[in-house]
Amino acid sequence: MGALEDPQAVFRAWARTMLAHVRGTRGGRDVPQAGEIFQTSTMGALIDGVYDGDVTIGELLRHGDFGLGTFNRLDGEMVVLDGTCYRLRADGSASIADAGDLTPFAAVTWFRPETTIPVKESTDQAAVTALIDKALGSDNLIYAIRIGGTFGEVRTRTVMRQQPPYPSLTDVAEKQQESTFHDVHGTVAGFRTPDFEHDISVVGYHLHFIEGDYRHGGHVLGYRLEDGVIEISSQSELHLSLPRTRQFLASDLDSEGLARQIHRAEGG
Ligand code: ZN
Repeated sequence: MGALEDPQAVFRAWARTMLAHVRGTRGGRDVPQAGEIFQTSTMGALIDGVYDGDVTIGELLRHGDFGLGTFNRLDGEMVVLDGTCYRLRADGSASIADAGDLTPFAAVTWFRPETTIPVKESTDQAAVTALIDKALGSDNLIYAIRIGGTFGEVRTRTVMRQQPPYPSLTDVAEKQQESTFHDVHGTVAGFRTPDFEHDISVVGYHLHFIEGDYRHGGHVLGYRLEDGVIEISSQSELHLSLPRTRQFLASDLDSEGLARQIHRAEGG
């Protein structure tokens, strides 16, 4: 009897195939959850003022344990760390988001670092970025980046709850609340996205900061790392979930100069 005619061997071969599929094994590598980024809506829609989405935080957390975004009405900056979704507001009234809260824009992934870079001396943002860029094998994948440690300085901005009719994000960003943290322990978390994703995401680095107390932070405008660890997790799958809200369906997302507006509103 050949091995594949043996019912047990057939079952084992089937189970291996199924497990490989579930784990996302490709090319002989065992990659947990296939390195997928789950993103709801597009940066272009957010720039256009689509601030109400239809994805709950509960659903978001089924697609990843790490990421960033914002909440409906732009009511705070989002950081997802180790499976917990934090809402950071300009006044420091941070909270853990409810499973039923909604997001108009967020991206999450299962964070499984493949590259770790220790930093033992004062390093400014440009130098940290250069260290990460050098460690990457390619500019053409999406990378989840987590930097934990002590920061000499972190500059952040925090969006504030908006009332309809919504202004564009470019207008909101011009009135944004900015904060500067000095000598704090915390985590910078976010993504490095390829240029070809402009309109869909924030190309380059999009990072959010959360202080060690999980109460303060926001969208990163600049930082200096004193001592810490950079972790990088590469992703090659993009799961883009588009809202079916009336505002999204009616939004004009072909506008020229959208990439320029994204840079103005999100540039760090
Ligand atoms: Zn942001």
